[in-house]
Amino acid sequence: MKLICIGRNYTDHIAELANEKPTDPVVFIKPDTAILLKKQPFFIPDFSNNVHHEVEILVKINRVGKYIDRKFAHKYYNQIGLGIDFTARDLQSELKSKGLPWEKAKSFDGAAVIGEWMPKDSFESVDNIDFRLEKNEEVVQQGNTQMMLWKIDELIEYVSKYFTLKIGDVIFTGTPAGVGAVNVDDVLTGFIGEQQLFSIRIK
Ligand code: ZN
Repeated sequence: MKLICIGRNYTDHIAELANEKPTDPVVFIKPDTAILLKKQPFFIPDFSNNVHHEVEILVKINRVGKYIDRKFAHKYYNQIGLGIDFTARDLQSELKSKGLPWEKAKSFDGAAVIGEWMPKDSFESVDNIDFRLEKNEEVVQQGNTQMMLWKIDELIEYVSKYFTLKIGDVIFTGTPAGVGAVNVDDVLTGFIGEQQLFSIRIK
């Protein structure tokens, strides 16, 4: 399975990183080896001094598809989750400045947190989901999927032009404002509404 990740999908996070508003979503892939194993801490890798948390709504694909029209996209997933796209920001900045791909900064082992899943049916609309990340019990990021530049069904249409979606694939839908560095002994806790979906200790 693969993790398909979207960058710059919230205007406030674009402003924060001083990026231009894109005409197309930014897309990158993480391999399955990037998934942080359940109940394991996140170890800050030795090649970075500035690993950032990016909390993101996740969508789990449950049907094979290619060239999926946004009208039918809702038939391709029935679970919504929450995760973290850990990013070695110092390394990413260096790669960006050289025009190089971001994989080393975003796709390393442990860089993808996938929390518990919730049934899609438990939401009135997937385009109105409140979520937040707490660091040491203080809210550091919060968002709502209605703030997405590309909504979930549009993302499925877009990414399925390039990649066949397979059962079990996960889409990371981009992060809202508030990204920031993690330090040893921090605890990151993610919520959709009042439901806690993960808690990760940083080592
Ligand atoms: Zn991200």
